Amino acid sequence: MDKLSELEKEVLACTRCNLSETRKNVVFGNGNPGAGIFVIGEAPGFDEDRVGKVFVGKSGQLLDKIFEACNFSRDTHLYISNILKCRPPENRNPGVDEQKACIPYLLKQIDIIDSKIIILLGSVPLKVFFGPDSKITRDRGIWKNYFNRWVMPTYHPSALLRNPNLKIDSWKDFKNIIHKYRELIDPEHYCKYL
Ligand code: SF4
Repeated sequence: MDKLSELEKEVLACTRCNLSETRKNVVFGNGNPGAGIFVIGEAPGFDEDRVGKVFVGKSGQLLDKIFEACNFSRDTHLYISNILKCRPPENRNPGVDEQKACIPYLLKQIDIIDSKIIILLGSVPLKVFFGPDSKITRDRGIWKNYFNRWVMPTYHPSALLRNPNLKIDSWKDFKNIIHKYRELIDPEHYCKYL
């Protein structure tokens, strides 16, 4: 069994925090295990918990539209996971203890998949990686470094659904990501908008 499958097997049986009592499914992550881009969200929501896959609800549909515009596919260019692998009841914010219990899994995924580019969706993953003083409205769109990986914080798609005015800045961030993908991974990457 490869390292990622071994880790997935471990996480699917995890009871390290209380969320194991209320989840329907553990949402480990989906995509290409050799992807150039690792996308990190906050936690599974209602739909994700129901089917055991990342970003399948309304936010996921919007994210797919953005990725389609970038010509990034989930099966080829991306691997997607969350800070928490189980849904917090009523979609509340992840608790500190839950984050502490679950983040080691994410760090192992990052290590195994070894993407050159990481996208942080929203304030929760931004604060996990760059500290509690981080602000998504201030820090989005600016490349950061995490153990020699290029990290781009941008808005979570649920924020874009709540406030469509944010889409302009979000698209700027994704254009930036396309440029970085061409620079680091595939100079020929095609995007009809860029
Ligand atoms: S959220 Fe993470 S730590 Fe908590 S039970 Fe699920 S997999 Fe385990």
